[in-house]
Amino acid sequence: DFHPLSPAVQPVFDTVLSRSPYEPEFHQAVHEVLNSISPVLEQHPEYVDGGILERLVEPERQILFRVPWVDDAGRLQVNRGYRIQFSSVLGPYKGGLRFHPSVNLSIIKFLGFEQIFKNALTGQGIGGGKGGSDFDPHGRSDAEVMRFCQSFMNELYRHLGEHTDVPAGDIGVGGREIGYLFGQYRKVTNRHESGMFTGKGTGWGGAEVRTEATGYGAVFFAQEMLAVHDDSLAGKRVGISGSGNVAIYAIQKATQLGATPVTASDSSGYVVDDAGIDVDLLRQLKEVERARIVEYANRRPSARFVEGGSVWEVPVDIAVPSATQNEVSLADAEALIANGVRAVSEGANMPCEPAAVDAFQNAGVLFAPGKAANAGGVATSALEMSQNASRQRWTFHDSENKLREIMGDIHRAAFDAAERHGRPGDYVAGANIAGFERVAAAMLAQGV
Ligand code: GLU
Repeated sequence: DFHPLSPAVQPVFDTVLSRSPYEPEFHQAVHEVLNSISPVLEQHPEYVDGGILERLVEPERQILFRVPWVDDAGRLQVNRGYRIQFSSVLGPYKGGLRFHPSVNLSIIKFLGFEQIFKNALTGQGIGGGKGGSDFDPHGRSDAEVMRFCQSFMNELYRHLGEHTDVPAGDIGVGGREIGYLFGQYRKVTNRHESGMFTGKGTGWGGAEVRTEATGYGAVFFAQEMLAVHDDSLAGKRVGISGSGNVAIYAIQKATQLGATPVTASDSSGYVVDDAGIDVDLLRQLKEVERARIVEYANRRPSARFVEGGSVWEVPVDIAVPSATQNEVSLADAEALIANGVRAVSEGANMPCEPAAVDAFQNAGVLFAPGKAANAGGVATSALEMSQNASRQRWTFHDSENKLREIMGDIHRAAFDAAERHGRPGDYVAGANIAGFERVAAAMLAQGV
């Protein structure tokens, strides 16, 4: 069900389909990028001759490993670990680790592929990678999570390093997991190598604003898109999905900029709070108590909980999907459009299905793809690496200003690339092209 691509790129896509037939999320991500960059190839035959695309769609290295650990009942558990080292042409492999039962090779490859272009867009000298496991931290004790993380790192450490591959968090991997993973790397290597992991605690090498950066950045990107049309976030109703790290700090920044974020969700359902989501309550529930979202409505009189259903049925001016891939269907997009949505900024990676993206763009909704809109997280990871390398610590204020500046640069790069290739206002094409141009030029210069 993928529409045909231009003759220059269709054979590359066919190779991906035949070589990796059971990877639908990976196919989706590759198809979108190949479709966007077709006009660039017409102007740059050297990219075709140099086999840039054939090389780009095949990860440089794929690591799959067994993760055995013992649960609190003394039973042996086995999970699978992944690290896809996709591209190191612009810098060490960089990208998060995801611990979630849905994790499989297709999901890690789609995330790693997206990461190449996202990281290129940040202009921070970082390559693309991603990893994770089908381990589910939910309902596990701290001790179980620690034993799992230690076993995971007992294998992965040999493939990492500050100049080689630098992981960070993603879904299911937050401050607690990063602490256990970093601690095990330190023990097995006998090196306190700060720059080998980002998202660390601020007391031991972590950067200010790293926790907030993805959510803040997605809101800054929405602000940039609106500013092009002399509009702003002030007074807008914002719909946010998810209740993890991205959602929480998107809510916080939207509130600070004068908007009213009215929703949050998890896999059990969503809450609507017309008074504006209370970010301190949400943080307490999700970060401290690790509770379900229904608890928010139980403790907040202005809120109600809707079991199941889609958070996108709530009328909003701005949507920041911040839960997971393919969470916004065509029907969701149509509901948002019917309710007058003005801008969509993807806080998660690939949260909108391709048909939903088309619907937004056809309806004239400002649409920012995740690889541009959520790049603030990994950009701030690069700032953490740079602070670690120089043994400096920047203030929260300076770090947030730097993030705001980087989001402005990413917006401009995507906006200009779209204009240059005859797709004004198309941030999907713009982000893919701007990211691709940086990667392709470096690949060509560095040889096969
Ligand atoms: N997991 C985040 C992402 O999707 C952050 C990666 C990082 O900081 O390395 O971009």
